[in-house]
Amino acid sequence: MNCPYCNHNETKVIDSRESKDGTNIKRRRECLKCEKRFSTAEKVLKLDLEVQKSNGEVQVFSLPKIKNSVLKSCDKRPVTLEQIEACLESILKDLKEVEGTTIPTGTVGRIVLKNLKDLDEIAFLRFAIVHNNYGSMNDFMSELEELKSFESIEYKNKRK
Ligand SMILES: [Zn+2]
Repeated sequence: MNCPYCNHNETKVIDSRESKDGTNIKRRRECLKCEKRFSTAEKVLKLDLEVQKSNGEVQVFSLPKIKNSVLKSCDKRPVTLEQIEACLESILKDLKEVEGTTIPTGTVGRIVLKNLKDLDEIAFLRFAIVHNNYGSMNDFMSELEELKSFESIEYKNKRK
């Protein structure tokens, strides 16, 4: 952030105000060189992602929703909140790699499953059973086989 008066690149924030809807942050800054003050308006980065349900309905992607499901799946499992956060980060990273900004729910589910598989097997099974409408045991088993072959993911290395 350069000073609009002298173009110096060091400024300090003296006041921060978030807009009511949380999409904008106004900051009052002071230049460390000429000490003049100016304001900046920053847009909060939106996750430009949408989810398409099987009935065709499109919704804005909600990370809190995914987090809730993951938390439920991990209930009473030996998983820490940090591990869950890391898992969510990894899910987001995978979602961003999907082509296009409208992602079918099935794909979202698979990405969550792929990440849960490395986090905790029981959480993985719980999520799979709740979120996929398997027609039969065979459907379930064949999907498990497929998921087993998913490559391991990066965040595993970051685990302590
Ligand atoms: Zn300045």
